[in-house]
Amino acid sequence: MRQIAIYGKGGIGKSTTTQNLAAALSEMGKKLMIVGCDPKADSTRLILGSLAGRMVLDTMRDKDEDEAELQDFLHVGFNGIRAVESGGPEPGVGCAGRGIVTAINLLENLGAYTPDTDYVLYDVLGDVVCGGFAMPIREGKAKEIYIVCSGEMMSLYAANNICRGIQRYAKSGKTKLGGLICNSRLVDNEKKLVSEFAEELNTRMIYFIPRDNLVQHAELQRKTVIEYAPQSQQADEYRALAEIIDKNTEFSVPTPLSNDRLEELLLKNILVK
Ligand code: ADP
Ligand code: MG
Repeated sequence: MRQIAIYGKGGIGKSTTTQNLAAALSEMGKKLMIVGCDPKADSTRLILGSLAGRMVLDTMRDKDEDEAELQDFLHVGFNGIRAVESGGPEPGVGCAGRGIVTAINLLENLGAYTPDTDYVLYDVLGDVVCGGFAMPIREGKAKEIYIVCSGEMMSLYAANNICRGIQRYAKSGKTKLGGLICNSRLVDNEKKLVSEFAEELNTRMIYFIPRDNLVQHAELQRKTVIEYAPQSQQADEYRALAEIIDKNTEFSVPTPLSNDRLEELLLKNILVK
């Protein structure tokens, strides 16, 4: 079983990419579970065709831990993919990171990590680098991390920060970075910029996903592109990403850049004369 955490700035395309990746891996015959670790709780909407009804935190509000059952919050969607949302606290109260810790512990205790599971994908919000959000990597649950980014400054800034967190836990554990997934925002020189950034981070850009409005058409129908338009070029992009991740054996401990160096890289690539 490979446990993979997908990190990245809010709105960058983590949930879209994770679910399309899951759908593509399921077409290859893999058995998957997606664990949404974002208080937005929409990490599994395209796989389930709706927002997950019950989430882990709701269950824990209503029941004692020893009364909880997997079916309280484990849902099954496209191609048998299992989907869980950790959920979030009420806005302004409590800590969202705590929900993730609770969710993963509960999933373990209730036996959700069955032996026939090939992949567990954690979709984790990465703007906030609090301890709770580091849970999937902190305790060595996810051994592999991919960061979704684009060529936009704030997304690279977040990716660099996430690498600071990974570096910290990689020293003590076995968690390593598998690479950056560039989800294009049509920034000038984006492919080169993100590749160079990856190289300085001691990793690589493992895939460049083109921007395509089909992704949003599928989203409006609550579907992945794989399900909504299986013959499309964009579906093939996600299949290619799935092949690369399935075969990937190159992992590293990242070496974060200084903020000045990151800005230099941006300047050099974006303001080329
Ligand atoms: P996150 O989970 O990182 O917050 P989402 O996956 O919810 O981000 O994506 C944010 C928005 O970007 C969604 O409306 C989604 O449809 C859109 N999006 C993501 N990837 C692409 C893409 N490759 N092309 C076009 N739109 C995309
Ligand atoms: Mg999301």
